[in-house]
Amino acid sequence: MFRLFGYFSLPSLLLFLCFLPRFCFPARITPGQVTVITTDDHNASWHNFTRFKDAEKGSHVTGMSELKKYFQRFGYLSVPDNQNDSFTDVFDARFESAVILYQKKFGLPLTGKLDSETISAIMSPRCGVSDTGPTVHATKHFSYFYGRPRWERGSSMTLTYAFSLSNMIDSISLPEIRTVFRRSFSRWSSVIPVNFTETENYGSANIKIGFFSGDHGDGEPFDGVLGVLGHAFSPENGRFHLDEAETWAVDFRKVKSKAAVDLESVATHEIGHVLGLAHSSMKEAVMYPSLRPRTKKVDLKLDDVEGVQALYGSNPNFSYSSLLESENSSNKATGLTPRSRRSTVSWVLLVFLLLSMIT
Ligand SMILES: [Zn+2]
Ligand SMILES: [Zn+2]
Repeated sequence: MFRLFGYFSLPSLLLFLCFLPRFCFPARITPGQVTVITTDDHNASWHNFTRFKDAEKGSHVTGMSELKKYFQRFGYLSVPDNQNDSFTDVFDARFESAVILYQKKFGLPLTGKLDSETISAIMSPRCGVSDTGPTVHATKHFSYFYGRPRWERGSSMTLTYAFSLSNMIDSISLPEIRTVFRRSFSRWSSVIPVNFTETENYGSANIKIGFFSGDHGDGEPFDGVLGVLGHAFSPENGRFHLDEAETWAVDFRKVKSKAAVDLESVATHEIGHVLGLAHSSMKEAVMYPSLRPRTKKVDLKLDDVEGVQALYGSNPNFSYSSLLESENSSNKATGLTPRSRRSTVSWVLLVFLLLSMIT
């Protein structure tokens, strides 16, 4: 094996290392730059944020006040001190601090400028829940809502959920939607001592799920295709809303639209909010605020698991001792299935082996 790598120069070996994860884990989400897609019916207001690219402190770009409103909406900027004032189009020191805070939350380089990576993240479809909430620890990325609320139902907890049958979508059948949600809920219940059961009684259910469009009465209007995909409220509210205007998909082989959004990924993310998790700054985590179209991201990562277990404790049948090994891996995240655990450990061992050969 050493002889084999003797034929490779160091740059080609590094190139090989860069591409190896793609060959090994084609189904996994590769951390990296957020890709922004554009479609004819893409949400207009976020689409034209490209004109702010490369703006930095001191810049003055017409319409920047709209971008400041976006930052305010998602918890990075407070309203101007003087209530009579509105946001200006000047990139001032306050806005620079907000940009740095945003970059920190999204795991981006802390440039304080609207570089292309930051603009891409801003324009990417995302959850409507605000990103406020302190990150718990330097090595952990999850966060909670203010006051750290959780459901209180005793040690062995069962929460009920129901669908609003008058607020469903036609493109996916109800049985299919039920199956998707059953899988999403089971991901969380496998790591914490909380069970979820579906009930017919929407009025009395703990978690109330429905698809809504535009202004639907909770002060968080939806905005059409892409942009905000869904939102859910912190415990013990239980409201769980998805934007009816999205091209929701269960199987991307059947839905060809460039703007298709994976229902299961968004459902799994919003259940995290229902349980009390706020957004994580770890790109690989289910609780990361944005999700690219045509992307599936349903496996809870170590960061998600640690966050929710700190609220509810561990499911007695769950063991994550082997996951601790993956904390030392380069991306500090791993899936919870035995297969992906094994793959990640193998990957780490391979890197160490190769590095020891070239040093
Ligand atoms: Zn969210
Ligand atoms: Zn809503």
